Amino acid sequence: MGERFYTLASFEYPADVQVLKGKLESEGIPVFLKDENTLNSDPLISSAIGGVRIQVYSRDKEMAKAIYDEIRSYALDKNGNPVVCPNCKAQKSEVYYQRKSLFHKLFPFFEKRKYKCLNCGMITKP
Ligand SMILES: [Zn+2]
Repeated sequence: MGERFYTLASFEYPADVQVLKGKLESEGIPVFLKDENTLNSDPLISSAIGGVRIQVYSRDKEMAKAIYDEIRSYALDKNGNPVVCPNCKAQKSEVYYQRKSLFHKLFPFFEKRKYKCLNCGMITKP
């Protein structure tokens, strides 16, 4: 024991988890799923609560990050160019929805689109 874990990503939807998990495992990296809110590691219960973290061994961290960067999709503006963060100028943003209310969960298109910079974490409105 004493093995250190690194949390690579967290997902709201089990389908997204399966894509990344399958890709990492196909590269020979062991993957562990943890519930976002509890210590329960049963992915079925986790998906009911919402929020699953993907963890890898710390020694696999760099390789896992490279694979994740490869398959994840960054946000593009309406011209098809990567969204540039106004704070750090990184071109690694993702579409960010708060979806706090049930209304926005049911009708996410009513919420204004924002972008979250994956480099510095800044949330911007276009
Ligand atoms: Zn930034």
